[in-house]
Amino acid sequence: ASTWSGVQQGPPDAILGITEAFKADSFPEKINLGVGAYRDDKGKPYVLPSVRTAEEDVVSSKLDKEYAGITGVPSFTKAAAVLAYGADSPVIKEDRVAITQSISGTGALRIGGAFMQKFYPHAKSIYIPSPSWANHKAVFSDSGLEVKQYKYYNKDTIGLDFDGMVADLKSAPANSIVLLHACAHNPTGIDPTQEQWQQLSKVMKEKEHYPFFDMAYQGFASGDTDRDAYPIRLFIEEGHGMVLCQSFAKNMGLYGERVGAFSIVCDSAEEKKRVDSQIKILVRPLYSNPPVHGARIASKILNDASLNKQWLGEVKGMADRIIEMRALLKKNLEDLGSKHNWDHITNQIGMFAYTGLKPEQMDKLAKEHSVYATKDGRISVAGITSGNVKRLAESIYKVTG
Ligand code: PLP
Repeated sequence: ASTWSGVQQGPPDAILGITEAFKADSFPEKINLGVGAYRDDKGKPYVLPSVRTAEEDVVSSKLDKEYAGITGVPSFTKAAAVLAYGADSPVIKEDRVAITQSISGTGALRIGGAFMQKFYPHAKSIYIPSPSWANHKAVFSDSGLEVKQYKYYNKDTIGLDFDGMVADLKSAPANSIVLLHACAHNPTGIDPTQEQWQQLSKVMKEKEHYPFFDMAYQGFASGDTDRDAYPIRLFIEEGHGMVLCQSFAKNMGLYGERVGAFSIVCDSAEEKKRVDSQIKILVRPLYSNPPVHGARIASKILNDASLNKQWLGEVKGMADRIIEMRALLKKNLEDLGSKHNWDHITNQIGMFAYTGLKPEQMDKLAKEHSVYATKDGRISVAGITSGNVKRLAESIYKVTG
């Protein structure tokens, strides 16, 4: 028998399956709302002009292709930490953030999982919201952590189950690791309010839980990178330690370049040195050191004052288009006379809208209307355009009655 005759066929990735079905559909007005990647109002992938400029700069400066250090391009990681924590943050001023470049957000989560598994001095389990980004569970269980859930989504209100969330955090054993989406929660698009974050910080403090922040959408949610970092900065102010995963896939549109960062907030610069040495020991056998090209682009954008200003404007442009599409979708549904309440479409934030549509209705959307998205009712708002929003609303109206 072949060496691999015992290997079973695995299930296809849910999102890739949708893309396949979409491609196979010959209807010219088909709509793909599966993938979480930004599209412009013509439905085309968007390379930010600031990224084009930074990239031309990087190329024309003819840098060598030597390896970066294990933790990546220092000018990039330094600026990434400032972007997240804020230039005036005590953790930056006191030089107590250990940070490494990572293979985008996923790689940051994976390093974080491995670091926790190796060094976290309490239970090696992590609580993630229910639901959460589809990859969280696999990333953390492959890192050797036990994955548990806390309540997050209330299907009756299509909103946050804040009481359920607080109750679950209170009943979790003290010193639990808790994964929090910093902004633009995926898949629901539902974030706690600032007041709710303050309460969450208190509960986490009381229980001595350890925050594990995933920030894959800084700036992409509200259009303002400082506003989107609110929970990070609040938790620091309240004296929490934390780890943080950053992705530059969405806010710089650097998806395939795989630019991200993983950081650990330490108590002192001395502690940071020790933690940093262990991050290096962890990363070295994983992939030795990260790719340089995307990080050089991001570094240019973060460190050059005029490019930075331009980029912030472009991030806001993307966020604004998404916010506008939410409003248009809701308005179109209401104009059609839909009896349902669609407020959640505009209350939610970020790349995705959690429509509340049932799996059967999502099936109908695909089969009868050539509108493709995941069965959980999540649609990528980034795939909506002023050209397809009317037909999308009509399709949703028809399947929701
Ligand atoms: N975390 C969340 C919540 C996400 O939605 C994503 C991407 O969709 C990621 C992390 C990681 O993405 P990437 O590895 O492309 O940066």
